[in-house]
Amino acid sequence: MLSTTRFTPAGRKNVTRDTDPYLPGKTARHMGVCPACHAVRNGQRWTFDTPTAKMLLKRTGEVDLHRCPACRKIADGFPFGLVTLAGAFLAFHRDEILSIVRNEEKRAMGLNPLARIMSLTEEGGRMEIATTDEKLAQRIGREVHKACSGDIEYTWSDDVKLLRVRWMRDA
Ligand SMILES: [Zn+2]
Repeated sequence: MLSTTRFTPAGRKNVTRDTDPYLPGKTARHMGVCPACHAVRNGQRWTFDTPTAKMLLKRTGEVDLHRCPACRKIADGFPFGLVTLAGAFLAFHRDEILSIVRNEEKRAMGLNPLARIMSLTEEGGRMEIATTDEKLAQRIGREVHKACSGDIEYTWSDDVKLLRVRWMRDA
């Protein structure tokens, strides 16, 4: 059985769509770089830019060296999207479905470097994917459903910023 308790730290309930604690505050210094993934922050915007990241990493002391919101969510085990894929169909089309999932991650990261897969676990014929971004979870569900049909369900939490996507196909 998969345990989801590790994804619900005590402070979780106080987080709403409007108060994402992982987004930088207005007082954040102008330029920064994440020491974990080397995403570059320019004001409020994060991008992947290797030459700029290398340059900024040499100028420690002048630039902000803090982990980006995605790396902090990953370190905290604090997903904003949870996708569960299940059913007998999955076992026969596992590689095809996995490549849909990975393609969606690649595509999302090209648009927003903070949209990532935090973890992907397979157990008891189910695949569980935790994402740092609810839109990525939604897209993974939508693309798997589009390619493989089956049943899909989206549940947005009222009190927390978390989208649960459940896809299932048996035959
Ligand atoms: Zn990072």
